[in-house]
Amino acid sequence: MKSLDDYLPIVGEKIIGNIYQKAHRLINKHIVHINSTGQGGGVAEILNNLVLLMNDIGVDTGWRVLLGPVDFFSVTKKFHNALQGGQIDLSTNKKNLYLDTNDRFSKFTHIDHDCVIVHDPQPLPLIKFKRKKQPWIWRCHVDITKPNKEIWSYIKPFILRYDMMIISSKRFKKDDLFLEQRVIHPSIDPLSPKNMDISDDTISKVFKKFGIPTDKPLIAQVSRFDPWKDPEGVLRVFEIVKEKLDCRLVYCYNMAPDDPEGIVIYNKIKKKARRYLERGDVLFVLGDNQILVNALQRKSSVVIQKSTREGFGLTVTEAQWKGTPVVASKIGGIPEQIVNNKTGFLVDPQDIAGCAEKVAMLLKDKKLAKEMGRQGKEFVKDNFLITRHITDYLTLLIDVLNNY
Ligand code: UDP
Repeated sequence: MKSLDDYLPIVGEKIIGNIYQKAHRLINKHIVHINSTGQGGGVAEILNNLVLLMNDIGVDTGWRVLLGPVDFFSVTKKFHNALQGGQIDLSTNKKNLYLDTNDRFSKFTHIDHDCVIVHDPQPLPLIKFKRKKQPWIWRCHVDITKPNKEIWSYIKPFILRYDMMIISSKRFKKDDLFLEQRVIHPSIDPLSPKNMDISDDTISKVFKKFGIPTDKPLIAQVSRFDPWKDPEGVLRVFEIVKEKLDCRLVYCYNMAPDDPEGIVIYNKIKKKARRYLERGDVLFVLGDNQILVNALQRKSSVVIQKSTREGFGLTVTEAQWKGTPVVASKIGGIPEQIVNNKTGFLVDPQDIAGCAEKVAMLLKDKKLAKEMGRQGKEFVKDNFLITRHITDYLTLLIDVLNNY
């Protein structure tokens, strides 16, 4: 099991010492995180790493996953989409399923902790079904820059029951919410199998095992199949780049149990990409293996994140940590994750030609790609490693528990 001390060679004594000092102030405190999936997507990725380290430093931290029927997750995916600006038919049936599932979950989830941290919209109304005995924090990972008005009015009263809301970027601050909104950037774990150093030999073995040829430069997008990740736009970018330079596109994807939309979009994109798929120039690789994701993000010449909405794209940071330049959309939390023209390129999400131009530039100019990769790694080290995230959480917990 990993321990905070393992991070000392990466971040240094000052940061590790500071974490222990803060953790001492939370001794005997018991915290619980609640979200809606144990695997797939960024929240599960973060909790898998964060919860263990919190326990290691002496802050008892638990994790509960909301259980619900498939229909519930179809409804909450619609809520998620509407919160990111999509349309929704907010029927009574949807609202009832949302509330009933949380009500049921509240009956078999006993909460006696000193602080409760609820992630994303799925378990948001749980607070309504519990007698509140401690501070509750809503951690919103969604890009709420332009939510659909109807869904926003519907969920706002649940948010207002909380003591604080955490958002991933200052861009998501809402003027019409009367509670403290604090920015905490998500993070990556440099020692997880997904992000740790691996040898060229390991990369070759993994590529062989998963059938990824390396005779052409690789462009990759590592994402769930989600409309907001714009997999169709990725294909259009690839088509333009491919006309200039021979290369291969890899869609590395996984499915999350709380996102039933994935399979539908996967089938749609596979159909659209058929021509390239048959020639082996577009690959669909199931990324349920951390070392595979690691190898792919490391070996790709460019990683794309063509999202049209994004709270904070972990994949953008993961790729930069591996020294791979990223071309990503200038939306949501992403502009805080890339220093434009230095660690990667930010492009307008509608600008397919502009995105293709930057990808092609990086494929051609290896010196530029290498330098961007180098700077990207430094930038991630200074801003988005898990030790920073732990520090931010400890500071927040000390504040919240002292003031409650
Ligand atoms: N991921 C993975 N395999 C895949 C696709 C994605 O392990 O095939 C991981 C990815 O590496 C990242 C997380 O899932 O750690 C996705 O987080 P992100 O913030 O990029 O997007 P989200 O899915 O939360 O919208």
